[in-house]
Amino acid sequence: MTAAIGPRPWRMLIGGRWVESVSGAWREISSPARRGHLLARVPEAAAEDVDLAVAAARAAWPEWRDQHFSVRQRVLLKIADAIESRSEDLARITAADTGNAIRTQARPEVTMLVGLFRYFGGVAGEVKGTTLPAGSSQLQYTRQEPLGVVAGILPWNSPLLIAGFKVPAALAAGNTMVLKAAEDAPLPILMLAEICQEFLPDGVLNVITGQGGTAGAALVGHPGVNKVSFTGSTEVGRLIARRSAERLAHVSLELGGKSPSIVFPGTITDGLIDGLLASSRVTRQGQSCTAGSRLFLHREVHDEVLERLVARLADLQVGNPLDDASDVGAVINETQYRSVQDYIDEGLANPALTLELGGTPPATGRLAEGYYHIPTVFSGADNTFRLSREEIFGPVIMVIPWIDVEEVIRMANDTAYGLAAYIWGDDINSAIDVAHRIEAGWVQVNQGGGQMVGQSYGGYKQSGLGREASLEGMIAGFTQTKQINVRLAG
Ligand code: NAD
Repeated sequence: MTAAIGPRPWRMLIGGRWVESVSGAWREISSPARRGHLLARVPEAAAEDVDLAVAAARAAWPEWRDQHFSVRQRVLLKIADAIESRSEDLARITAADTGNAIRTQARPEVTMLVGLFRYFGGVAGEVKGTTLPAGSSQLQYTRQEPLGVVAGILPWNSPLLIAGFKVPAALAAGNTMVLKAAEDAPLPILMLAEICQEFLPDGVLNVITGQGGTAGAALVGHPGVNKVSFTGSTEVGRLIARRSAERLAHVSLELGGKSPSIVFPGTITDGLIDGLLASSRVTRQGQSCTAGSRLFLHREVHDEVLERLVARLADLQVGNPLDDASDVGAVINETQYRSVQDYIDEGLANPALTLELGGTPPATGRLAEGYYHIPTVFSGADNTFRLSREEIFGPVIMVIPWIDVEEVIRMANDTAYGLAAYIWGDDINSAIDVAHRIEAGWVQVNQGGGQMVGQSYGGYKQSGLGREASLEGMIAGFTQTKQINVRLAG
């Protein structure tokens, strides 16, 4: 499964060259699917590597910025084609490195990545300013100018998808970039860098691998970085906001979530159950910031929806992420595995909760070879329980009954987070009313899939600042406005 990955000399991309770290330090990358199995090693960047990467991005910026937009557009569209032609390689390396199951997660992630490169390439010419009707003696217009060097800092849970929100948008708008891969999932990002580098001028995209506290912190504090575009935990996001604020760098934050999924009384179809399954993100081991992990079931439909959802979840096959038969893969590493297990143990010890499915994963056999959790459902939950409030980032669903619509809206909004929400019901008017009253950046009605190309994406409250995935998000997040007023003769 991993033979093709191991011997390969993975290096970082700086200024168009594939380099080791200045210190010569390496980091070992382990398999989520087989405990203790090394997949590869990658350079361990530190502050001096960050200096080189930022210098390369700064040097490349003026020429990239000053091109006609169609040059950037052509390059991004060529990259999209090249990603598409290597999509199976990218999906396989994502599955091996992150533990995301290839059929349900890794391949769809690559498809979305292709779509994002095509979308941002396509709208590259829409980074437009305005002209004020200021009379015949004045020409007053604005330009949307790129910010300069953008640092993209990535999490491990869906590295290519998150890179797809940042890289083509920042580049289409005329910025250059330094991308830092997550410690535990650098390989898909390095493969993406290889593909991009076939088409981009040297230094336009630089990719480093290293730890958050060293390479990441150096990037955030670097005076040559104009914007930090961060996706990760709320805790680290706060730290990055503070450090960026010290030097007034632009910053955007895509952070954690604890998203509500609200089911109204009405018809219970297979489509509803499939939608709930999708929105729970259990096939991503629950390692998704948009997981509908608080499931509010109206009392009238509570028992039937619960029974049918549990039956559907029980059918899922947990196993080797590289196996097409697996619906659910492995959790990223031992730390996450233990953290999820601590939450499950707390749920098992809570007499108010009923374990409907899952619980502690098997200690022996096939699943014990890797960091596998099994789909877990607790019913009888209260919105105040720690398991209902904190982001577990594992395949754990907390089921909370409700009767009164005002009460369910209050409970749904009673959270520090505000990333996503899901509303399910036959009465579209009630569903839309609730959608408007939910404090979240992204609400879906009667569907539970992932982000779509071109939509606005980002969080309310502690789930973040700024928007990605759309043209508007690109203009707001990766450009700044310059006003030019000219006195005309005559
Ligand atoms: P994390 O916050 O631990 O790390 C994210 C990135 O930040 C990594 O590259 C890490 O090396 C870096 N980092 C850590 N400390 C740093 C520092 N002091 N300075 C600079 N960089 C630093 O997050 P994670 O565990 O990799 O990812 C899981 C989290 O990401 C979850 O909370 C999840 O909800 C969130 N997430 C959010 C979105 C979204 O779009 N809102 C998407 C995916 C993941």
